[in-house]
Amino acid sequence: MGAYQSPIAPGRSWYEDSVERPSYPALGESLSVDVVVVGGGFTGLSAAVHLARAGVRVALLEAHRFGDGASGRNGGQLGTGQRLAPSEIEAAYGFARSKALFDLAEAAKAHLTDFVETNGIDVDYRPGQLSVAHKRRYLDDYRKEVDDLAARYDYPHMRYMEAGETAERLGSARYFGGIRDTGTGHINPMKLVVGSARVAAEAGALLFEQTEVERLERRGGKIVATTAAGTVTSERALIATNAYGTGLHRAIDAHVMPIGSFIGATEPLADPDAILPGGEACNDSRFVVRYFRKSRDGRLLFGGREAYTSATGDIARHILKQIAEVYPHLADVRLTHAWGGAVGITMERLPYVRTLEPAITTIGGFSGHGVMLANFAGRLYADRVTGQEDRLAAFEALRIPAFPGGRLARAPLLFLAMTWFSLRDRI
Ligand SMILES: Cc1cc2nc3c(=O)[nH]c(=O)nc-3n(C[C@H](O)[C@H](O)[C@H](O)COP(=O)(O)OP(=O)(O)OC[C@H]3O[C@@H](n4cnc5c(N)ncnc54)[C@H](O)[C@@H]3O)c2cc1C
Repeated sequence: MGAYQSPIAPGRSWYEDSVERPSYPALGESLSVDVVVVGGGFTGLSAAVHLARAGVRVALLEAHRFGDGASGRNGGQLGTGQRLAPSEIEAAYGFARSKALFDLAEAAKAHLTDFVETNGIDVDYRPGQLSVAHKRRYLDDYRKEVDDLAARYDYPHMRYMEAGETAERLGSARYFGGIRDTGTGHINPMKLVVGSARVAAEAGALLFEQTEVERLERRGGKIVATTAAGTVTSERALIATNAYGTGLHRAIDAHVMPIGSFIGATEPLADPDAILPGGEACNDSRFVVRYFRKSRDGRLLFGGREAYTSATGDIARHILKQIAEVYPHLADVRLTHAWGGAVGITMERLPYVRTLEPAITTIGGFSGHGVMLANFAGRLYADRVTGQEDRLAAFEALRIPAFPGGRLARAPLLFLAMTWFSLRDRI
């Protein structure tokens, strides 16, 4: 069974030009380890770091280069809580579990900031995130969320912004109001990938790039990962292929759907302070969310368009149009980079963490919210393997149904649903 298909990941990202990426060898022999990790994004790299640090023999196999998946191509926004708002999680699971998931996300944030600090990884961290309403009717929900998080979730870092303040902080009068969250921030994700790989290698993890796992199967009580040039035999396996791993395990294909999301980087702006003068990242209230921020060297990194088929169209043209809608004075700005990546979404927009078979676990489906969560989930997997407190269980207990429609009808059905949501964003 062939495994790797890159669904929707075209274009060279600006991140790739912002940091030197040491390369790692391809697997050229057969090995035996305690744990094999398939997929070198945040999840797999973090699992490798923490397993190796605990003395576990771990091999990490990446089909391309570390960070070639979503982890090196994303919007870099940490966010707060889960992808679903606490009120939505409460409606499905009650307050106690919603609060536990919120606290887990806060722990993920703390884990990430602590990890980069203690390991000397400069990820261009900047504090602050703005969430802004593209429709007036969302403002009541925004106010309520701020009050609710302060009163019931012990989160005092959000403040409601009226239209005037929103316009000032954005440098655009396009939005009706919003939330300013000073308890989170944004990073250059490729710098985190590169730093994590270095730390994993230093801790003794065996790292391999250009090494696609073609099959993962049980043989005589062991798990065997087969690649073109050798096998890795192990006691346990973590499949951390997220939206990029079609074909390795049927359950992952049924529960995690790849959606293309696209970003453009402008040339350094002539007047960078005219936009987001406080340096925050921003995301808006559209279902097909727009997300933007400035890079350390004063570019606008603007993400917006999503695609539900493999037809990517002209990324730059779409992104430029969206930039001009928010910042009309940038109608003629030049993009130096335009790229896409596959976001792994689930039906419930909550992560898909499952023990698929004894000793084979998968972690993914962060639904556009994996910058802090994927890194933390990798760490939680290592904690589980080494017998620490099992906090991964809170994710594993979430009800994540398979996408309807079977293998062939799934993508067209999703396309219809998303077209509806994107239409709803406009009315
Ligand atoms: C454009 C874009 C913008 C985003 N913006 C944000 C954001 O602002 N904030 C946020 O929180 N999240 C964001 N996300 C989501 C976030 O990037 C992901 O949730 C996170 O990176 C997932 O990490 P991962 O390690 O699980 O998967 P990935 O980083 O996708 O890694 C999976 C890896 O598995 C490898 N692989 C697949 N099959 C095989 C195989 N058979 N053998 C070996 N290797 C294999 C792939 O090559 C890939 O490197 C965004 C995603 C995209 C694409």
